[in-house]
Amino acid sequence: MNQIPNFLLERVRLTPNRIAIATDGEEITFKDLHNRVINLAYKFHHLGIKDGSHVSVLMNNSIEFIEVVYALHYIGATSILLNIRLSDDEIVYQLENSDSEFLIVAKSNTVKIPENIKLLNINEIENSKSKEFPIKSNFDGDKIATMMYTSGTTGFPKAVLQTYFNHWSSAIASVLNLGLDHKDVWLVCLPMFHVGGLSTVYKSAIYGMKIVLTNKADAHTIKDCVKKHNVTILSVVTKVLNDILTIVEGTNELNNVRAALLGGGPAPLPLLQKARALNVPVYQTYGMTETCSQIATLSPEYMLSKIGSAGKALFGCTLEIRDDQRTCLPKEVGEIVVKGPNVSKGYYKLTKLTDSSEYLYTGDLGYVDEDGFLFVVDRRSDLIISGGENIYPAEIESVLLSHPDIIEAGVTGKEDPNWGKVPVGFVVSKSSNPPSQEELIEFCRDKIAGYKIPKEIFYVDNLPRNATNKLVRRELLKLL
Ligand code: AMP
Ligand code: MG
Ligand code: MG
Repeated sequence: MNQIPNFLLERVRLTPNRIAIATDGEEITFKDLHNRVINLAYKFHHLGIKDGSHVSVLMNNSIEFIEVVYALHYIGATSILLNIRLSDDEIVYQLENSDSEFLIVAKSNTVKIPENIKLLNINEIENSKSKEFPIKSNFDGDKIATMMYTSGTTGFPKAVLQTYFNHWSSAIASVLNLGLDHKDVWLVCLPMFHVGGLSTVYKSAIYGMKIVLTNKADAHTIKDCVKKHNVTILSVVTKVLNDILTIVEGTNELNNVRAALLGGGPAPLPLLQKARALNVPVYQTYGMTETCSQIATLSPEYMLSKIGSAGKALFGCTLEIRDDQRTCLPKEVGEIVVKGPNVSKGYYKLTKLTDSSEYLYTGDLGYVDEDGFLFVVDRRSDLIISGGENIYPAEIESVLLSHPDIIEAGVTGKEDPNWGKVPVGFVVSKSSNPPSQEELIEFCRDKIAGYKIPKEIFYVDNLPRNATNKLVRRELLKLL
């Protein structure tokens, strides 16, 4: 069995009195965090959570969220981390699909959850009894630590399986690229229910590094956090980096930052050039939920000579460009395929993710130059990335199609100055008196998360289709 040290317990053995997490109002050491985790884990255990239980968590970034995640790890339960922006229907789907026995929330919950799922509000279990159990000093590397939903091209959400070994390997590969300084403080402004946020929480314990948690990811909050907590590393998405650069221009507010990791979506060249002009060290990274965070990142010495590149595969990982089974030549665009100890084995109850050579086909297009540096050309065919959240058109289309008057639907992303892209819908109705745009938008409201709801919906006579009658989404905007 592949044994990984229990991240937090091992950290407490080494440097118990270092600050683990800072928030706006609180700071906590690794030892205090561990004590709070044990306390909570014993309560959870009394309330019926066992080794192997499936437990969904619906929480905002907070110390309590981290306590919950570790308490579930201490017990040996699998956590399913749900996006707090999901609609009620989406939450119920993910609870049922993941075979969750419990749902942990921090606010009074309004979602009507299936009767067989037990709801636990962490603010209401303070007086619960405890049941002790032996805390394991190791995690079983092959065990599923967490699951996160991603929609994929087919439109129905699938849970990515992430093992302890995947998370551990991701943290190690990242630090072999970025290095570590005893003064490092990493700002977590990405949600912890996304792997970009969660992976940094594990890094905190594995590296013995302080992290700063915030729920807000706007430029002003980030700038203030960087100053107040002497942040040296942060992970950002394009929109946020752009906003930050705008407000810090001409100041020395980011001088302490040694790395701004930019990932989760395309990095426009003008933005990278602006960062370079302002001396903000941006590390372009490429990764996804299925690779448990970064799989390629540009190293600092290539920041200028390889601007626009997402770098090479991290230490211990490999990356290739393929066209079908053939490996492409340098500069030839093909599908990015990746392999490494951080790559997920598959989706819950679905097929294996990787091919027989253990490569994961990412669906993203890119090329490597003659020196082996990755350039991501296009994201997964139809994926819309809006403010860092992924939107899969097929998922929105099936909601529109569930309206009795709508017989065809196509969704695509439209440029938006604030969000990068926003979803817009094109529909064909069979009715002579079809619902208004507002009615259709309202119809989507309780079915999908707000950010997925089309900002505009247009009635058209036909949707663009190819010879095999497949919808050609990239042609949709031409209908306007
Ligand atoms: P997620 O699973 O939400 O982390 O989304 C992962 C997807 O974001 C990838 O499959 C890519 O489509 C996109 N992505 C991540 N990093 C980059 C990058 N550096 N450039 C372009 N697209 C990226
Ligand atoms: Mg994904
Ligand atoms: Mg993303």
